[in-house]
Amino acid sequence: MRIDVFTIFPAMVDAPLSESIVQRARTTGRLDLRVYDLRDWTHDRHRTVDDSPYGGGPGMVMKVAPIVEGLEAVLGVDLASTRVLITSAGGIPFDQGMARDLATVERLAIVCGHYEGIDQRVVDLVGAEEVSIGDYVLTGGELAAAVIVDAVTRLLPGVISPDSIDDESHADDLVEYPHYTRPAVYRGHPAPDVLLSGDHAAVDRWRHEQAVLRTRRNRPGRLATDTEG
Ligand code: SAH
Repeated sequence: MRIDVFTIFPAMVDAPLSESIVQRARTTGRLDLRVYDLRDWTHDRHRTVDDSPYGGGPGMVMKVAPIVEGLEAVLGVDLASTRVLITSAGGIPFDQGMARDLATVERLAIVCGHYEGIDQRVVDLVGAEEVSIGDYVLTGGELAAAVIVDAVTRLLPGVISPDSIDDESHADDLVEYPHYTRPAVYRGHPAPDVLLSGDHAAVDRWRHEQAVLRTRRNRPGRLATDTEG
């Protein structure tokens, strides 16, 4: 899969995606990630990417031209068929379902906002989707883009074992069961006996019960039975 990211702080996007599993996906060619500096599509000596908002108010707004021209230069005729996301605190919530959906496309582009946000005309001109990674406000969309790329990449074929993906939190309504590893007892705290019993059916039952308890505790209202009862 190819992902093109447009930002005024390329290192902020590249750094978290240059380690561990995502870095391996890049080296093996499963993820072709390219990060572009939007200042490459400015036309003035100062390489200006932002300006004060029409209508007044605080902060600066990212200009429409460098973004549209950058997308056109990099994507060319593929722009029409490429999903273009814009990071936005007020966007559609990004979740595991959207990650699964995005993992099926061949090409994706992500534009990172900064300062107060992006001139809204980018959305109309390129048919972009505004996406939020959660109900809080970041200084810029770079970390949000990294979150999206990370969540999508681990779902690409061959990046991690399919078993890990089927069972995990958000695969269904339940969050995942708790994990334990050696030693069996640490500072008087034992790992649950059942996990050391070798009885796979009992382990599965226990994990399911724990997943339900943990979902109820951490994500109340998430289970259908909670809302019905
Ligand atoms: N004035 C904006 C906030 C700007 S934050 C508002 O009230 O909605 C600066 C930039 O950070 C945004 O343009 C966006 O690209 C990014 N950003 C901030 N919070 C985000 C979030 N929760 N999800 C995705 N992007 C976010």
